Amino acid sequence: MQDILDHITATIGQNPDRGKTARYIPDLANVDLDQFGIAVCLADGREFQSGDAATPFSIQSISKVFAVALALGKVGDSLWQRVGREPSGLAFDSIMLLEREQGRPRNPFINAGAIVTTDTYLEGSTPKEALGGLLRFVRDAAGDGNIHINSAVARGEMQTADRNFALAHYMRSHGNLTQDPQHTMGTYCHQCAIDMNCIQLARAGRFLLGGIEGLGPRLVHKTRARRIQALMMTCGHYDGSGDFAFRVGLPGKSGVGGGILVIAPGKASIAVWSPGLNAYGNSKLGTEAMEALADATDWSVFS
Ligand code: GLU
Repeated sequence: MQDILDHITATIGQNPDRGKTARYIPDLANVDLDQFGIAVCLADGREFQSGDAATPFSIQSISKVFAVALALGKVGDSLWQRVGREPSGLAFDSIMLLEREQGRPRNPFINAGAIVTTDTYLEGSTPKEALGGLLRFVRDAAGDGNIHINSAVARGEMQTADRNFALAHYMRSHGNLTQDPQHTMGTYCHQCAIDMNCIQLARAGRFLLGGIEGLGPRLVHKTRARRIQALMMTCGHYDGSGDFAFRVGLPGKSGVGGGILVIAPGKASIAVWSPGLNAYGNSKLGTEAMEALADATDWSVFS
């Protein structure tokens, strides 16, 4: 495995065509494009890493995997009354389908669905308490207390969140937002601004490997872990989800910070990061690296 990762870092990780950083969140726009890291936690407990795997980055939408696990833990399957489980085929921040579907977003991984998910785990607590609960979940999953929210990123995002506020208010007009939109959006922006490195993220992803004795804490039931992976496969890369399934064949969740968390069911949890994004808003080199890793290991669920 180490040879495979080093080869990927030396080839794909050095590709000069690296995509572009997300421009709309000030602190993400200026991240050095010239970075690439990858980490793999195997189901037998062995861990491997290569490149900038210890460099922290903004996990952004990858946080939605932890948020949906937390919300499901709180309200169970009633979450699905408020948010669907279908890919949207539209950009992560699209508002189009919300009108047709009366304020019920398509899935918990596009922004509208994630805002509802945040609104759900926020219910009954203050934003500070809710974020404390989310951080506890992520730290427990990673087995690492040194995971924090980057408040400069959160502040920058809050200041440029007009479209996300519009989504929140639109859903509120349909009764699908129960908390003060200011609180929900503040919590959402802070959730997206969690910093992690590839090693921490790959370790945290082990909670989805489900049912493997001795491998990370059992934070969700294995049926729930399986369902979250299904959502990652079908909806984890916005309108590029089909393309990722085609090229990699594994459930994954990307974020506009350039990270991707990928699960090879029963086999491994993988985190890859390179800040340049492709046209769908997913890490360009991260996707290429995952394609190479899936080829080298034959880990595709379709193999
Ligand atoms: N915080 C970002 C937003 O809501 C998340 C985007 C992403 O990673 O998809 O715009």
